[in-house]
Amino acid sequence: MSYDDQNIFAKILRGEIPCDKVFEDDHCLAFNDISPQAPTHVLVIPKGPYVSFDDFHANATDAEIVGFVRGVGTVARMCGIADDGYRILSNIGTNGFQEVPHLHVHVVGGRHMGRMLSKPRD
Ligand code: 5GP
Repeated sequence: MSYDDQNIFAKILRGEIPCDKVFEDDHCLAFNDISPQAPTHVLVIPKGPYVSFDDFHANATDAEIVGFVRGVGTVARMCGIADDGYRILSNIGTNGFQEVPHLHVHVVGGRHMGRMLSKPRD
């Protein structure tokens, strides 16, 4: 899948659409999810044009990968959820139910998150 630079997170990165920014550095931008599923629900995205984790792991530079992973951990600590624990997840492609085709990691916490997966209803 090629990268669509009109996706909503690409527009947020370019400043064309506002976001509720939590953190930013050379490698990533983190902002609150518009429809939070937990008291803390932050999306962390790399600055480069990567569709998904699959694309990112294969094509990103080592510096981009290190910077992004450090960014995710930094965001969790900044949000105050690291001590009690939290969840990170990234949906990939059709079966992963990925809605926005720019890699993003959900950082969710602030409450007990329950079991990892439940059986889908549909
Ligand atoms: P996915 O299903 O692709 O893993 O997650 C996409 C996430 O992006 C969803 O949790 C959704 O609420 C969030 N989202 C979609 N559009 C926007 C937006 O314009 N701004 C923000 N902050 N989050 C968005």
